[in-house]
Parts: sequence; structure tokens; C-alpha cells
Amino acid sequence: RAKDMGRNTFQFYQPEMNTSVGARLNLERRLRRALRDNEFLLHYQPQVDIATGKIVGMEALVRWLDPEVGLVPPSAFIPVAEESGLIGPLSEWVLREACRQNKAWQDAGLPPARVSVNLSARQFQQRDIAKLVMSILEETGLAPQYLELELTESMIMRNAEEAVVMLNELHALGISIAIDDFGTGYSSLGYLKRFPVDRLKIDRSFVSDIGASDDDETITSAIIALAHSLELQVIAEGVETSSQLDFLRERSCHEMQGFFFAKPMPHDAIPGLLQQGMAAEEQEA
Ligand code: C2E
Ligand code: MG
Ligand code: MG
Ligand code: MG
Repeated sequence: RAKDMGRNTFQFYQPEMNTSVGARLNLERRLRRALRDNEFLLHYQPQVDIATGKIVGMEALVRWLDPEVGLVPPSAFIPVAEESGLIGPLSEWVLREACRQNKAWQDAGLPPARVSVNLSARQFQQRDIAKLVMSILEETGLAPQYLELELTESMIMRNAEEAVVMLNELHALGISIAIDDFGTGYSSLGYLKRFPVDRLKIDRSFVSDIGASDDDETITSAIIALAHSLELQVIAEGVETSSQLDFLRERSCHEMQGFFFAKPMPHDAIPGLLQQGMAAEEQEA
């Protein structure tokens, strides 16, 4: 599959996580330049409906194409972007680019799918986030049902009262809300019911140990059952094997995302996949 994913390399350069002030300032300076010179790009990872094999969505994942070192993963720069205030403009770029790209695919006649965008903790502390999302939807012309925002439990629980208000504002726009890395954070199931949440994303750490750890299988099953009983959608992250997929299918997990179907890939690899419509496995069956 990798050969179909366009010309970009998936080799990541991992800058040493040097915590010295000088190194941090240097990274901050390069990130500022990266924003100015448009060095960021989005990769997209398909999300597949397990029952039908159809691609129903994709997660937008930011990368930095540093001319000096190559492709840099988000873990190497999001934390510094958060600390330095660059996360605001970067997140806004990600949101706009994901919406613009998804609308362009739809305008090209491809089967519509939703795009999921990760919100940063900082961005979620901004009271006017719903206003920004609304203006980007207007500007790009993307229909709200094709946008999903991913938040983590800790982002929501930090200030749950405020979060309810903000999530309601966002949800009122017609977009959907997913809880990322579900099961790893502290979350109150009571709040989960009060929040306008549409989807739980089972954290990769549980999914990857299906077949290896009874505890992780139990947790995965429990999250799927919880989603069903709260009438939420549920997607498993980090699905890498067919036996993991079988486990999820048996428990009626709705969707999956992971290397088993596809790695995150450059935008130019997406139209072919959407056109094809189905996971290869389902087509062969
Ligand atoms: P995430 O939102 O939980 O994204 C899923 C991560 O898991 C991605 O890493 C993806 O490449 C990886 N992954 C997906 N399937 C598999 C699999 O089957 N096996 C394995 N081993 N890994 C898999 P990535 O792209 O490096 O992103 C890491 C994190 O960086 C994301 O975790 C998210 O928290 C953050 N991030 C990415 N893009 C953005 C963004 O635009 N804004 C913000 N604020 N954070 C972002
Ligand atoms: Mg995510
Ligand atoms: Mg995740
Ligand atoms: Mg584990």
C-alpha cells in the first residue's frame, strides 16, 4: 500500500528533545518561520465503517516539512507550539486547510466523507472557538456535518462547566464531536451523558494489546458497550491486525482507523481511496 501513497516520504526526523532554553528558542524561531513560509502540511488517515468497509471519514494529522531536516511529526513540535502561543495560528491553519481540502474533494465529485481535526488544549480554552469554526465553515463552504473536532478527556475535564457551554456552541453549528484517546484520561461518565459528544475514539494503547492482554481486551469491550448504551458512535484507533479487527467486529464497534487499513497519507493519495470506496479486504470478499 505504501507505494500508492504519493511521493512524500514517511521517514520522520525526530529532533532531539533537548530541553535547554537555547534549543527551545531555536525551535520556536524555526516554527515561526515555518508558519510564515507555509511549511506545514496535512496527512489524512482514513476511517472505515467496519460493517460496510466504506471509508466514512479521515483524520487530519499535521506535519512540518522542515527544509533542513525533512518531515517532522507533531509530537516534536506541538508541545513547543502550545507553550509559545504559536498553536493558535497553527491550529487555525489546520482547521481551514482540512475544511478547504474536504470541500475541494466533494466539489471534484468524490463520495463525501467527514474530516476530523484535533483541537489543542490551548485552543479549547479560547472562548470564541465556535465563532472561528463557524467563520471557517462559511469561508470554505464545507457543510458542517462533514467536520468533526477531536478533544481529549483532560481538555474537557479541566473545566467541565465551561466545556459543556463550549461544546454546546460547537455542536449547535452542526459539526460532530469526538473524544480522542478515550480511556486514558480521567473522565466522569456523568458528564459524558451531559456533553453533546457523538463519538468515542478508543485509545490505541488498548487496541494494540487485543490478543495480548486480557485487561486491554476487557477495557476495549467495556468502552464499546458503554458507547452502545449511551447511543454514541465508537471508533477504534491503531488497528494493525485482522484479528484486532475481528475482535472489534464481533463487538459491533462501528468504525476503525489504523495501519491495518491505511497509514496517514498525503492529500494526493486520498481521492483514489475515496473513489475506490471500500477497504480492499471487503472488495476481495
Ligand atoms: P491522535 O490524534 O491520537 O492521532 C493518532 C496518532 O496515531 C497519529 O500519530 C497516527 O499516525 C497514529 N496511528 C494511527 N494508526 C496507527 C496504528 O495502527 N499504529 C500506530 N503505531 N500508530 C497509529 P501522529 O500523526 O504522529 O499524531 C500524534 C498526535 O499529535 C495525535 O494523536 C494528536 O494528538 C497530535 N496532533 C496531530 N495533528 C494535530 C493537529 O493538527 N493539531 C493538534 N493540536 N494536535 C495534533
Ligand atoms: Mg486525534
Ligand atoms: Mg488518539
Ligand atoms: Mg496495554
